[in-house]
Amino acid sequence: MRVGFGYDIHRLVHERRLVLGGVIIPFEKGLLGHSDADVLLHAICDALLGAAGLGDIGQHYPDTDPRFKDVSSMELLAWTFQLVRVKGFCVNNVDATILAEAPKLSLHRLAMQANIASALALKPGDVNIKATTMEGLGAIGKGEAIAAMCVVTLREG
Ligand code: MG
Repeated sequence: MRVGFGYDIHRLVHERRLVLGGVIIPFEKGLLGHSDADVLLHAICDALLGAAGLGDIGQHYPDTDPRFKDVSSMELLAWTFQLVRVKGFCVNNVDATILAEAPKLSLHRLAMQANIASALALKPGDVNIKATTMEGLGAIGKGEAIAAMCVVTLREG
């Protein structure tokens, strides 16, 4: 069994779509980034890469590369899963936390879980998505950013 941890944060700005876990979420702001800035999927990719001993997301999908401009992070997740498979690993489970002051994410949790499970050949029950606020503290608490943290386990197979 191998364990990996991932963390990411993106700035919230006007005139961007908010995409989390591959789900477009109605909100007045969205996350700024070279790709669709799906902070949850980026944290999951980093956790997968970490568990497989494959470095980090910036090495594989640099934000200076025009191929990744506005790319769906579901594609980054699919490519990352392929890298993990080529290394001879299966994903065992995913546990992630989104840190966001707003919007309320509970309505979208099942859709995120289904997207991630299908990308990683898991059952939805093997993907756990949690959300919490920062109680008004710091940049996330002021609604200036959303962050995500993730732990994954891999097994051989
Ligand atoms: Mg990112």
